[in-house]
Amino acid sequence: MSNQTKPDFIREIYASMGISCAVYNYGTEILTQLSERFAAIDEVAEYNQLKVLRAMQKNQVSEACLLGTTGYGYNDLGRDTLEAVYADVFHTEDALVRPQITCGTHALALALMSNLRPGDELLSPVGKPYDTLEEVIGIRPSKGSLAEYGVSYRQVDLLADGGFDYENIRKAINDKTKLVTIQRSKGYQTRPTLSVARIGELIAFVKSVKPDVICMVDNCYGEFVETLEPSDVGADMVVGSLIKNPGGGLAPIGGYIAGRRDCVENAAYRLTSPGLGKEVGASLGVLPDFYQGLFLAPTVTAGALKGAIFAANIYEKLGFAVVPNGTESRHDIIQAVTFGTPEGVIAFCEGIQAAAPVDSHVTPEPWDMPGYDAKVIMAAGAFVSGSSIELSADGPIKEPYAVYFQGGLTWQHAKFGILKSLQSLVDKKIIEFG
Ligand SMILES: *Cc1c(COP(=O)(O)O)cnc(C)c1O
Repeated sequence: MSNQTKPDFIREIYASMGISCAVYNYGTEILTQLSERFAAIDEVAEYNQLKVLRAMQKNQVSEACLLGTTGYGYNDLGRDTLEAVYADVFHTEDALVRPQITCGTHALALALMSNLRPGDELLSPVGKPYDTLEEVIGIRPSKGSLAEYGVSYRQVDLLADGGFDYENIRKAINDKTKLVTIQRSKGYQTRPTLSVARIGELIAFVKSVKPDVICMVDNCYGEFVETLEPSDVGADMVVGSLIKNPGGGLAPIGGYIAGRRDCVENAAYRLTSPGLGKEVGASLGVLPDFYQGLFLAPTVTAGALKGAIFAANIYEKLGFAVVPNGTESRHDIIQAVTFGTPEGVIAFCEGIQAAAPVDSHVTPEPWDMPGYDAKVIMAAGAFVSGSSIELSADGPIKEPYAVYFQGGLTWQHAKFGILKSLQSLVDKKIIEFG
């Protein structure tokens, strides 16, 4: 629809919420170029919706599964069935999906610490992992790190063009190498996110060098972006957070590990206790949200993806560096925009905050977040605190002053948030506009 034919009531409500005519028209113009890509995203969502539904039907999710347990949580039908559903969605032997896994970092730490033993070595063949994992691994010294337990670490960086450094990966794999960790998403970096196909190539290479190495993929922000998951292309474990994609915005806490039975079993023994494993862990009242969130996750992820693509095109055409760029294919829901100044990062985040359904009246400020080595500004007016499948943005206040934008439980909300961020930059005269 061209600007002229957009109904007035839509323009009017945007205007009433602080979006100027110039910003609105610019957004509308950008959107006209995105219809084919949005249609392709809807197809992926359709496929994944049925994949999730099929897994729920196959495992006979019943009304009784929505009731929780308390205390030890023995015989928690809903918890055990949900884990079987996750295993089917990811095409793995087993899964651990628990509210006792507090966040994504915890899920990753659990997968690593339970499958590595003193004397083993961990390898990251895709460069530096996500900031919070530096302390888990002991790259930055930390109490209780893998390093303290005698697990060593090696890293092979990506090549300058983003490719895998196969020669050095081969050299880095040795007798001690037990587990290879592959981060799908870019995290707080401006490297490209890895497609599932590329992850598959890397895993095949690693296994050709050392077949019994455990390949783990940090799947945060990647779930349901493609029709395949890393576990479809050889990953022994996929790990993520339920307050990102797979929780569909409803899960109020939690993490998952889906993978080979022995790997998941190790994780369960570490999460609870040797001997107890998956048999304990009350689900309390969270199961309806875990199930319903997973059910919504494919379409929620699609909305977030559309928002990311919209943002890329909005800011790319204004001359900012964006990763991924406006046209390339997508493998996670994160959009990085480099503003080059702290003011740009802050103004963007203020705009996102002002678009929120909760706490839209507060102003985000940079702070020293646990696990990060620079101040970070976060915009999040979320129903679930810190949830980043909801409309959110964050940026470490350090070079190159890039902001990482993600989420939006609906495409319409993501769109509004991006227009609001642009309006904030225009109002602060960081962007000269119309
Ligand atoms: C979010 C994220 C994590 C950590 O998850 P938290 O839930 O914030 O602890 C790890 N890796 C990647 C790539 C992430 O995006």
